[in-house]
Amino acid sequence: MTEKRVAIVTGASRGIGRAIAMRLAADGRHVVGFARNADQLESLRGEIDAAGGSCEMRSCDVGEGDKLATEIEGVAERYGRLDIIVNNAGITRDGLILRMSDEDFDDVLRVNLRSAFVACRSAARPMMRGRFGRIVNLGSVSGIIGNAGQTNYSAAKAGLIGLTKSIAKELGGKGITANVIAPGFIESDMTNALPAAVREGVLPAIALRRFGSGCDIAAAASYLTSDEAGYVTGHVLSVDGGLGM
Ligand code: NAP
Repeated sequence: MTEKRVAIVTGASRGIGRAIAMRLAADGRHVVGFARNADQLESLRGEIDAAGGSCEMRSCDVGEGDKLATEIEGVAERYGRLDIIVNNAGITRDGLILRMSDEDFDDVLRVNLRSAFVACRSAARPMMRGRFGRIVNLGSVSGIIGNAGQTNYSAAKAGLIGLTKSIAKELGGKGITANVIAPGFIESDMTNALPAAVREGVLPAIALRRFGSGCDIAAAASYLTSDEAGYVTGHVLSVDGGLGM
């Protein structure tokens, strides 16, 4: 069995997931990164190696449930343990409800919510065997207060809160915690794709008057996945510069 705690991070190739993978590796975890872009995963592997961390990168589309489950089971088998999973992979397909297609709704639910359900179900068994687990799901301020143009995304992120709290109740007795991090506006490809007017328009509603960074979210993930956070479960930790209060 690997001595280090083993941590899966989905959507590790860029943005917030990449920052979380780097941080958990710096915390001494053996990080297994999942995403589709093999080149970006390879560059992350190089960065973690260069910083003295240990990791493995896997090409995996989290929207393909059976493959995701097989990948997670494979991690637990290869290392003899699975301690931490951060379900971070996510997409947006924004549009006002009158024009939103069934496909855009289903795609967002599949990648943002269903994948976390499949991942938690697959991770639960090895975590129960180890009588230790830290599950962190990436929600959003949109899942708490809603957002025009994001009925699909807000529904998925709100769903993650119910999923996470239910898991926290089901698995708490086995030493497994489950929490949500709800970011506000964080610099990444996802927010860079927003029109400049939207980016600037939101600033007055953010108490700290700026977007956050991947490192802000990684710091929260570091805490919630630590051994010391063992009495924190079913919590939704907003890291949003005060946007949602
Ligand atoms: P991002 O820059 O667009 O990165 C998304 C990540 O998810 C990439 O690594 C991408 O990797 C991966 N991904 C997407 N679809 C995938 C799939 N089908 N299978 C596997 N991996 C997939 O987004 P981000 O801003 O870092 O967001 C990360 C998480 O935080 C998301 O859950 C997002 O909803 C949430 N969030 C972000 C913000 C924000 O302001 N940025 C705010 C609230 C919540 P590949 O393309 O290589 O597959």
